Amino acid sequence: MSHPNGLPEEDFRDLLVRVKDFRDRVISPQVLDWERNRTFPAEDIASAHQLGLLGMEIDPELGGLGVSFGQKLQILDLLAEVSMPYAFSLVNSHNVAARLARHGTEEQRSRFLTDLLTGKKLGSTALTEPAAGSDFSSITTEATSDDNGWRLNGEKAWITNAATSSVIVAYVQTNPGSRARGIASFLIDGTRPGFERIAPYDLIGSHAIGTGGFRLNNYLAQETDLLAPAGDGFSAALSTINEARTYVASMCCSMIETSLRLSVGYTTERESFGKPIIEHQGLSWQLARVANQLEAARALTDKAIAAVEHGDSESAILPAAHAKKFTTEVVESALSACAQAMGANGSREEHLIGHRLTAGRIANYVDGSTEIMTDRIAKSLPTTYGPVKFDQ
Ligand SMILES: Cc1cc2nc3c(=O)[nH]c(=O)nc-3n(C[C@H](O)[C@H](O)[C@H](O)COP(=O)(O)OP(=O)(O)OC[C@H]3O[C@@H](n4cnc5c(N)ncnc54)[C@H](O)[C@@H]3O)c2cc1C
Repeated sequence: MSHPNGLPEEDFRDLLVRVKDFRDRVISPQVLDWERNRTFPAEDIASAHQLGLLGMEIDPELGGLGVSFGQKLQILDLLAEVSMPYAFSLVNSHNVAARLARHGTEEQRSRFLTDLLTGKKLGSTALTEPAAGSDFSSITTEATSDDNGWRLNGEKAWITNAATSSVIVAYVQTNPGSRARGIASFLIDGTRPGFERIAPYDLIGSHAIGTGGFRLNNYLAQETDLLAPAGDGFSAALSTINEARTYVASMCCSMIETSLRLSVGYTTERESFGKPIIEHQGLSWQLARVANQLEAARALTDKAIAAVEHGDSESAILPAAHAKKFTTEVVESALSACAQAMGANGSREEHLIGHRLTAGRIANYVDGSTEIMTDRIAKSLPTTYGPVKFDQ
């Protein structure tokens, strides 16, 4: 999916400066209001189109920026310092545009691509259902072929951007009982009859993700709405999952690093018992532990980025699983340690550590839970660490 070379170094540096300016002007002043009012900031996500961020990885000939995968992650990291939920929503809409740009038909692109790139419409990718999450092959939303096309029935749950999105890549079962073999994907238009939106969930935080669901009530999909036919849907869904796991890991690293910097700043300035707090070993060792976790998380994430950029999707599976597992397992304790070192001030909402904590919690679920990452690694043990003959 990525452009190996991306933007020339100087152009990319300029872009990062503009992204930072946009973040500080548009996002930072609003993050806390979004949480307090449980707002999904659809318009502010759409306004990122001014910088081309809704088409980051898409070819310039199709209206995108043409950045590389690694460059995309640097942009997301910058946004995630202030709001990972915002960055996550943005990249989820971007992913639908990128999917259409790479694999959509000319007709599908002409229907939706411009609207996605300009933020007139937001995109979602819908696998999860009320009764099927980790076990994706057990989805029951069903597509039945009839004379007019396909009739779709079922419910999707926990879908990023579903609060307002209207261009949706939905995975459905075409042959109940056949699990992965029967899964296909369709392009759903959320403005058409048969599409019923479900109100977004009230979460512990991270409302900018706009997570909700929808029902398909005899929704009529034409043959031209088919993205991946039965048999291809399952692998199509997994084809970009390593990228998603890697950017989730990267954004968690970014949240840890920005919190650690804040915490080191605070403990260097603040004194107790006659010296800066950071000079008390009992405290500085807690932050040293965070730094150590961050270095390890970054190293694993960089390895995953390199695997995504230079390898095939098969060779990126394990590096992405290692990066996401480790990073999501440490993110909450690392953020808590940063808050703890700031004393009561660590609990003030304007420091955003609470906002980041809820995002860190959610990172443990999205794009494959921590346990599913562990399972991936566990299943690879015999091949990765080969059997050494053990004489009893
Ligand atoms: C904010 C948010 C945004 C999301 N966005 C999207 C989206 O855009 N599109 C989408 O399709 N989905 C989305 N999801 C759903 C997400 O992908 C699921 O939450 C995830 O796949 C886990 O499924 P589940 O929550 O149903 O947990 P379950 O599958 O019910 O699992 C419950 C627990 O059991 C564990 N578990 C399950 N199976 C095993 C096993 N074999 N071994 C060990 N442990 C196991 C899980 O890790 C978890 O801890 C989102 C979720 C959240 C919270």
